[in-house]
Amino acid sequence: MNEFEIIERFLSVDSVKRKDVIKGIGDDCALLKVPRGQRLAISMDTLIGDVHFMSEANAADIAHKAIAVNLSDLAAAGAEPAWITMSLSLPKADPDWLADFSRGLKRMLEFFGVSLVGGDTTRGPLAITIQAHGFVPEQVFHRRDQGKPGDLICVTGPVGGAALGLMVARNELSVNPKAAAELLKKYQTPYPRIAAGIALRGRATSAIDISDGLLADVNHISQQSGVGALLRWERIPLSPAAMQVEDAEVRMRAALTGGDDYELCFTVDEDELDAAKNALETVGTDCIPIGRLTGKPGVRLLRDKEDIQLEEMGYKHF
Ligand code: ADP
Ligand code: MG
Repeated sequence: MNEFEIIERFLSVDSVKRKDVIKGIGDDCALLKVPRGQRLAISMDTLIGDVHFMSEANAADIAHKAIAVNLSDLAAAGAEPAWITMSLSLPKADPDWLADFSRGLKRMLEFFGVSLVGGDTTRGPLAITIQAHGFVPEQVFHRRDQGKPGDLICVTGPVGGAALGLMVARNELSVNPKAAAELLKKYQTPYPRIAAGIALRGRATSAIDISDGLLADVNHISQQSGVGALLRWERIPLSPAAMQVEDAEVRMRAALTGGDDYELCFTVDEDELDAAKNALETVGTDCIPIGRLTGKPGVRLLRDKEDIQLEEMGYKHF
């Protein structure tokens, strides 16, 4: 099978048929139309086999995750996804693997109404680079650097599940089978918080998607906004499946420093909290305050009013 057959059989999966795609796959360039009054938000991520995902994982799940992590950056920015381009490096042309990969691609593209409009296909180590393109109205863009002291820090859902799921995948965690399956699912096939990002437009003072881990991502907001952050351990949400993990230390480490959750972490002025809560409720998403931005640089975490030493949590980047 040559490159063209791969593209034709497995990558030309555009059943979404967006009107803003004048020309998609098949020509030298894709030709696309940005709606009047909107700006183009773009983001790119590379996933390398056995670095960012397990190469032997189901190919449909690999495709799912590659799209999810890219769309998640658009979600953080409050952008509405429109198109992706994808560079695919494959060690071999395995029709069964490609059929699964294609199925995962198609499912995610249809779910989010996104078109795959072009890319590149080469032989090499398994790697997937996706660039996601979305729209934001002029004036609206959730940046990392506009948080203000006093703003509440919120998350859209539980954290730590994906990191525990990775431990399940590596046989490093003993937990009941039902919880194990749920944690694994959170790691392998996350859903980016697109609707939540859009609902927060004009309300969040800053936002980020939780990809590096809660502490690291809160630290990005606090450093780039030139403020500090004070988090309360008691408020940080864990999923019911994560709570099935018996070792409290393992749970806490996953929630604070595990990455790959793809929930949004955002800041809001206290007066805007109810509006943000209501807006998120309409899209079926939680709005959970976990702390506040402060005037004193650095990230602090309190448990029962006492500081937790973050270095002991395996977190060294402060
Ligand atoms: P060119 O030689 O002009 O760069 P290619 O042979 O690389 O074109 O690709 C042919 C067409 O298939 C182009 O429209 C390209 O965008 C598309 N394409 C190639 N690889 C991929 C991919 N992995 N995903 C989506 N579209 C792809
Ligand atoms: Mg090319």
